[in-house]
Amino acid sequence: MPLSSSLHRAAMTDRTFSLEFFPPKTPEGMAKLRDTRAQLALLHPEFFSVTFGAGGSTRDRTLETVLEIQAAGLAAAPHLSCVASTRDSIREILETYRSNGIRHIVALRGDLPSGMAEPGEFRYANELVSFIRQETGDWFQIEIAAYPETHPQARNYREDLLNFKRKADAGANAAITQYFFNPDAYFNFVDDCAHLGVTLPIVPGIMPISNFSQLSRFSAACGAEIPRWLNNKMESYMDDTASIKAFGLDFVSGMCDKLLRGGAPGLHFYTLNQAGLTSSIWQRLGL
Ligand code: FAD
Repeated sequence: MPLSSSLHRAAMTDRTFSLEFFPPKTPEGMAKLRDTRAQLALLHPEFFSVTFGAGGSTRDRTLETVLEIQAAGLAAAPHLSCVASTRDSIREILETYRSNGIRHIVALRGDLPSGMAEPGEFRYANELVSFIRQETGDWFQIEIAAYPETHPQARNYREDLLNFKRKADAGANAAITQYFFNPDAYFNFVDDCAHLGVTLPIVPGIMPISNFSQLSRFSAACGAEIPRWLNNKMESYMDDTASIKAFGLDFVSGMCDKLLRGGAPGLHFYTLNQAGLTSSIWQRLGL
């Protein structure tokens, strides 16, 4: 049963709904992703983005996955992280994407892989955004990352906000947030950006809930808060994954509905290369 009224649906037509994959490591993973992609293509997302391992560790697999998506007639947006990279290597990747007709990029700093000491020629994502604009003009639509609950390495919320503004002002077209489970953090962040004159669309990143221990691990690593009540409730289901999924579906669908009603300019789903939960949330929202 869709949560949205027809009025709400009409207002959603100019919003952006997109999906994220990671590049599989094996031929079997690639074959499975083809099935997932075929199912999710029926939802007609604006684009499919594909993550990129920092330091270029997934460079060829990201490219391969993006080209497959594009060959299937769908819009693809590769992520590109600049940590541990040189200007020449980034220039070469941009040229490969450009010559293959890719028009959309998610520009990131990334995290230095453990054991890799050399930070490379870019320090922060704002430098990458400037470089892409300098090298390729308006060819690419550039998305950047946003952190409504503050990036884990930031000195404080205010500095992180100003750093986000610098990155937006470097020439980004839109932003996608780290996932969160507290819509107020998102609305507060968007308001603070507007006060600073940052008006680019900030699309909430949505993590469907399927596996509590995996979600706890991810959240600890990326600084996404699982509110205490939510944590306790999921923990109480123990190994009952069916109940966690059913509860997670209700909770995340309700949160998405609240975000859209509050004016969010779309949604970006971290699919983890699975079609089921994303499709179910999408259908419940009546997108
Ligand atoms: P930045 O915007 O550079 O920010 C990083 C930190 O530096 C922040 O604390 C910021 O406050 C601070 N900072 C920024 N600019 C300055 C400055 N000029 N001076 C001083 N401090 C500054 N990681 C991957 O490896 N591959 C991916 O494909 C990937 N995809 C992602 C997609 C999304 C939508 C999101 C939200 C994150 C993704 N990440 C990915 C994770 C991301 O790379 C990490 O969160 C990384 O730590 C920061 O990247 P950033 O682009 O946000 O960095």
